[in-house]
Amino acid sequence: MVRLNEIRENELAVNAPAPTDAGLVFIGRIRSPWTSRLECPRQGRPDGPICEIEIFEPWVAALDGIENFERIEVLYWLHESRRDLVRQSPANDGATRGTFSLRSPVRPNPIGTSIATMVSRAGGKLLVRGLDCLDDTPLIDLKPDRALFTPIAPPQPGDFQTGD
Ligand code: SAM
Repeated sequence: MVRLNEIRENELAVNAPAPTDAGLVFIGRIRSPWTSRLECPRQGRPDGPICEIEIFEPWVAALDGIENFERIEVLYWLHESRRDLVRQSPANDGATRGTFSLRSPVRPNPIGTSIATMVSRAGGKLLVRGLDCLDDTPLIDLKPDRALFTPIAPPQPGDFQTGD
């Protein structure tokens, strides 16, 4: 049975610096059907339920053109995660792995990423499938899926690439 914020056999927590979260601006929030981490899927699926990405002002104008992409990369802040584990036991069987070898939400900077499928856009709201986060999860950023994104001009040797 999964328990929230437990330490499992052989897991290792450290005295992490107090989080400051400085420098991040939450640009919106994600509305999903899940209110408990225990109900959330481990990873989103293209056939998962529709979730709403709500963009706050003054960032709505930054959505211009995003509706042309079939898939977008969504970055979000897993705000209910503990942040002090360096070894974790995903199967709760005493076998542990380093945090950076896992996609666990428990990490020093709890950033989640998913490739979501675009369903529709209405103003500052996007409907997508493919997310795996709690209702009200803060949104950090949106980008076109890099597999679909074509820079305007092919890079030349020595160019500093700003396109992606
Ligand atoms: N797809 C993302 C990734 O790979 O970066 C996140 C994967 S993570 C394994 C997904 C899990 O994080 C969910 O099953 C849920 O247990 C947990 N979770 C979802 N939203 C959260 C939130 N806002 N705060 C803390 N944990 C969350």
